[in-house]
Amino acid sequence: MTTFHELFGHAPTGEWAAPGRVNLIGEHTDYNLGFVLPIALPQTVRARARRRDDGRLRLYSAQGDGRVAELAVADLAPGTVAGWAGYPAAVVWALRQAGHPVGGADLLLDSDVPTGAGLSSSAALECAVASAYNDLYGLGLAAQDLAVVAQQAENRFVGVPCGVMDQMASMCGRAGTALHLDARDLSIRHVPFDLASAGLRLLVIDTRTRHDLADGAYAALRAGCERAAALLDLPALRDVPPSGLDPALGRLPAELRPLVRHVVTENERVRRAVALLDAGDPAGLGPVLTAGHASLRDDYRVSCPETDLAVEAALSAGALGARMTGGGFGGSAIALVAVGAADETAAAVAAAFRRAGYPEPGLVHAIASAGARRVS
Ligand code: ADP
Ligand code: MG
Repeated sequence: MTTFHELFGHAPTGEWAAPGRVNLIGEHTDYNLGFVLPIALPQTVRARARRRDDGRLRLYSAQGDGRVAELAVADLAPGTVAGWAGYPAAVVWALRQAGHPVGGADLLLDSDVPTGAGLSSSAALECAVASAYNDLYGLGLAAQDLAVVAQQAENRFVGVPCGVMDQMASMCGRAGTALHLDARDLSIRHVPFDLASAGLRLLVIDTRTRHDLADGAYAALRAGCERAAALLDLPALRDVPPSGLDPALGRLPAELRPLVRHVVTENERVRRAVALLDAGDPAGLGPVLTAGHASLRDDYRVSCPETDLAVEAALSAGALGARMTGGGFGGSAIALVAVGAADETAAAVAAAFRRAGYPEPGLVHAIASAGARRVS
């Protein structure tokens, strides 16, 4: 592995880490300003960094293209940086847009968050860079502020219209807890999520597929939700209460109704999940997860044959509940399983994938872990 000194000719000031995430429930609700419930993963993007005072940004990633990208901070603008280097450059640009007069840096990135698997390697990368800059430039920004900068970076510089969940999970996650986030006011609560003492495990199934329609479809879904909210004369779909769902559906054209039904029922599922965790009943999450999958598959229509199969195979093997996680069109699924049935469930999913001729799925246990931090 290339060292910082070999690349840049001096030592780093420090190293910062930011995790990927899986979302338990609350999908496509964040950009409708509703509720989500992710956990931060043990897998992280690490950034070794040193400040530069000549306005140059030099970037290298162990998972990149094998080259150092060198950029002038003052010239950064959306559309000017192609490829992976756009993500760290975006964070520097977004900090400056937010009024923080930051300059250059040397940055060496390394990661064990799989990319494009729906575990949010992009947010982990952004949050590692944002955390490094916060310290290198003495910005004193709070975790929530850095998450918003990272989201702005991805929305406005990289051009992905994501909500704020991924960046908040990466910045604010805490070991042994799930993050109950209100995407409207960014208030958070750490909800106990101790599966081990309940004899449970969360299995993440990476289907290793990503379908090309993902980016365009995501933007179209978001636009559909915004159109529905406008037709209902509301700021966001979050403002449709469960009791107001049927009357709201009656005021909408047929093609928007399933979107609204998903968002409203999904917000309710987050509420239900949090109540179960607060009551010390994580096993009770199972049916909530499975209901969430049905809603994503049938109403929001962001599932695909691979994630459907992962969910069905896990449930047939005895999982308490399962659903796709992340934006959809491939990526990963999660399954809540009894510890004693975890290996059997993983084997059953792998066998089902083999029978269907799909790629060998990635199978890992997800453990709720700490959010972004300085590690040295
Ligand atoms: P996800 O966030 O679900 O992993 P995205 O498509 O949003 O998927 O982000 C993946 C992209 O983020 C990669 O294609 C790459 O450009 C960038 N990326 C993530 N991690 C790294 C890394 N360690 N090094 C370089 N680029 C990375
Ligand atoms: Mg991403």
